[in-house]
Amino acid sequence: MATVLLVEDHPMNRKLFRDILGFEFEQVIEAETAAAAREILLQTRPDLILMDIQLPDLDGISFVREIKAQPMLASIPIIAVSAHAMKQDIDQARAAGCCDYVTKPITDDPFVLLERLKRSMISARPSS
Ligand code: MN
Repeated sequence: MATVLLVEDHPMNRKLFRDILGFEFEQVIEAETAAAAREILLQTRPDLILMDIQLPDLDGISFVREIKAQPMLASIPIIAVSAHAMKQDIDQARAAGCCDYVTKPITDDPFVLLERLKRSMISARPSS
């Protein structure tokens, strides 16, 4: 069981994700803004971050770069969530350090989506 940080400003999307993530994650921490997520990341190291790319106070790509630049947080897998699904959007998210890209609205079967999230956490685990 693991902790996920959900950074998403839209209440309906948060509820949808919360319901899906509840099947797999022990703890779902929610942040509506980059500022709120920053506060949480000072105290908690989640196993996974779901990052809305359109946040009210900062674009999600810049925020991903900011997180990836912090040695304590850099290895946390981040999955971008966006309504934009153009190749250039996906490439930009990957270049910033996102390991996967989920398109809104969420149409995946919830368990297919959870498998994707789990795969990202497994790939991020350091091999020993
Ligand atoms: Mn948004």
